[in-house]
Amino acid sequence: MIIIMERNATKVQIQRVIDLLKDNGFEVRCNVGNIHTVIDAIGDKTTVTPGRIAALDGVKEVKVIREPFRLASRDRKPEDTVIEFPNGVKIGGNNKPVAMVGPCSVENDYAGLLRVAVAAKEMGCEFLRGGAFKPRTSPYDFQGYGEKALRYLKRAGEETGLLTVSEIMDASDLPMMLDYVDVLQIGARNVQNFKLLQAVGRCSKPVILKRGLASTIREFLLAAEHIMYQGNSKVILCERGIRSFDSAFTRNVMDIASIPVIKKYSHLPIIVDPSHGTGQRYLIEPMAKAGLVVGADGVMIEVHHDPENALSDGKQSLSIPMFKDIMARINTFNNRLHYEKTCLSANVK
Ligand code: PEP
Ligand code: MN
Repeated sequence: MIIIMERNATKVQIQRVIDLLKDNGFEVRCNVGNIHTVIDAIGDKTTVTPGRIAALDGVKEVKVIREPFRLASRDRKPEDTVIEFPNGVKIGGNNKPVAMVGPCSVENDYAGLLRVAVAAKEMGCEFLRGGAFKPRTSPYDFQGYGEKALRYLKRAGEETGLLTVSEIMDASDLPMMLDYVDVLQIGARNVQNFKLLQAVGRCSKPVILKRGLASTIREFLLAAEHIMYQGNSKVILCERGIRSFDSAFTRNVMDIASIPVIKKYSHLPIIVDPSHGTGQRYLIEPMAKAGLVVGADGVMIEVHHDPENALSDGKQSLSIPMFKDIMARINTFNNRLHYEKTCLSANVK
C-alpha cells in the first residue's frame, strides 16, 4: 500500500507509521516530496490493515495498489510523467507527441546518415535514432558497428540539433554509451534482461523500453518497474507489436489497445513504433496515426538513405522522399489532434 502523509505531518508521525509497518514485517520505502511524504509499504495487509494506518495521526490517505507494478502505477502517481531534455523537448503529459526517426543500423556511411538527420530536422522531428549494437536473430546477420556507429550518431545529432537514441545490449557498454546518446533504448529482446534493466535503472538517462515479442502488458510494466526500482524514473515505453499466430502479412501484431490500457494503469509516457510493429512500409502512416489517436506520446519510424541496400530492416525502412511525404501528413494530423485534445482538456477544466 501507499501511504500519503498530510503536508504538515511531523517527523514523529511519519516515524510512527514507518515503525508500525516495519514491526509487522513490511518492507518500507519513504519518499520525502516537496509537498507530501509518501510511504511505500510492501507486506501482508492482514497484519496491518489499510484502515489501521489511515487512522494514525498525520496520514492523509492510504491507497491499496491493485497491480504488481508500483512505481509505474497510476494509483501511486496520478499525474502523467513528463520527461524533459536540456534543449526543452518534452515527452509525455499534454505535450505534443514527438518523432524519433533514423536507420535501423547506423552504417559505415556518415553522409547517408547525415542526409537522414537533415531530413528529420527539416520535418520537425526531435530525435535521431540508429542502432550500433544490433540484437539479430541470426549470428550471420549484421551485428552493428558498435562505438564507431555511436560516434557517427552523435556527430549527426550535433550537426542537426537532434537528440540521439541508440540501443544498449550489454550493461558493460553503459559508461561508454552515456557519452554518445541522449536516450538509451532497451530492445524487445532484452525486455526481461533484468541485469540490463537494473544497470540502466542506476543511471539518470531516459530509457526507451520496448515491449517484448511476447510480453503481456503486465510483464512490460514490471520490466519498467525494474528500471524505476533502481532510481531511474525516466522510462518511455514503446509499443512495437507482439508475436501472434498470423505473421503472413505483418511482421508483428501491433497492439494498439495497449496504449490506452497502459495510459489507464501507468503514468509513464508511451510511444508507438509502426516500423517494427508491422514490418510494412505501407502501414507506417496509418498505424502511426492510429497510435497518436489513442494517445501515444510519440512515434518511432525507421528511415534509411538507401533502403534497398540497408544492412538491417531495409524492407520496412522509408526512403528519404517517402519519409518526407509521410511525415508531412503525420505532422498535419498530429497538429490537428493535439489542437483538439488541448481544446478538449481546456473545456473540461
Ligand atoms: C530497433 O529499434 O531497431 C529494434 C531492433 O527494435 P525491436 O527491439 O523493437 O525489435
Ligand atoms: Mn530495426
